[in-house]
Amino acid sequence: MKYKRILLKLSGEALMGDKNYGIDPVRLQQYTQEIKKVHDMGVEVAIVIGGGNIFRGVQAEKSGIDRVQGDYMGMLATLINAMALQSALEQGGMYTRLMSGIKIESVCEPFIRRRAIRHLEKGRIVIFGAGIGNPYFTTDSTASLRAIEVEADIVLKGTRVDGVYTADPEKDPTATKYKTISFQEVYEKNLNVMDMTAFTLCQENNLPIIVFDMNLAGNLKKLVEGEEIGTLITS
Ligand code: UDP
Repeated sequence: MKYKRILLKLSGEALMGDKNYGIDPVRLQQYTQEIKKVHDMGVEVAIVIGGGNIFRGVQAEKSGIDRVQGDYMGMLATLINAMALQSALEQGGMYTRLMSGIKIESVCEPFIRRRAIRHLEKGRIVIFGAGIGNPYFTTDSTASLRAIEVEADIVLKGTRVDGVYTADPEKDPTATKYKTISFQEVYEKNLNVMDMTAFTLCQENNLPIIVFDMNLAGNLKKLVEGEEIGTLITS
């Protein structure tokens, strides 16, 4: 296999499936099966999941909620998704640990870098919930930071689009997909891969990113085996 330790980033929105809100049980099962395939190969799997299907900090102000308060609400939303995923993975026979960026001791462990690495070495799937634990960040930034901290080989950003395009393929039918692209080119062309904080962290630490379609069965396994799908972003 090409990658020994991966950081898989899943958006909260993806977990909605065809619903308008919350968690779609079919999608949850589908992701569980995909993750199991790579875990069974002996890949060490760390996961960051977003919270956009439940709450985003930027929504807060519109509802008369303070932005910082809203961001904490968003972090709690990611924990709800993380708990659902943890439960589904365990029902699928995998050992997992949920580590949170904010202390919620009755539910999960706090994030401790050395402990996270130990869990991964022991073959436990580690889910990082509650983001970094600070407002004004996103779960993309969490994915980049935690990937660097646990020395993951790559960030695999699972989306519903199968890579990075010259323009938004859902709006522009002439858009074409990049197989590989450099960090620099993404900046220059102002392409939307991750928010800038998350993106810069990967660039400065030479951590490659692959954007791929997580909804296509078998894609995650193929990536880990070294097949060229999605878009690879490197230095
Ligand atoms: N959030 C935060 N700090 C973090 C991670 C997340 O404040 O370190 C908040 C932020 O408000 C964000 C929300 O949690 O909007 C949900 O995360 P995100 O929008 O990244 O989820 P996704 O778009 O991946 O579903």
